[in-house]
Amino acid sequence: MTVSDTLIDEPEQAKDTIDTPASDGAVDERIEAESLREALDDVERALARLDDGTYGTCEVCGTELEDPDLAETPQLRTCAQHRS
Ligand SMILES: [Zn+2]
Repeated sequence: MTVSDTLIDEPEQAKDTIDTPASDGAVDERIEAESLREALDDVERALARLDDGTYGTCEVCGTELEDPDLAETPQLRTCAQHRS
């Protein structure tokens, strides 16, 4: 292989990488990042509710949440009835 071949090959490889649709691995990473962001959002909401004193109660009906449920899912926002 000559030097000029190498110079020609490299841009084509870079172009292929851009044109190829995202691989399944990249999609999985996006989904994982999205669910992590949602989990972080839940935690931040829980922290905000700790601040305003509504933590541990259902966002819909105001019922106090069960301690075992809160222990398992500290960012819980609704009672069993209003959980979807
Ligand atoms: Zn409720």
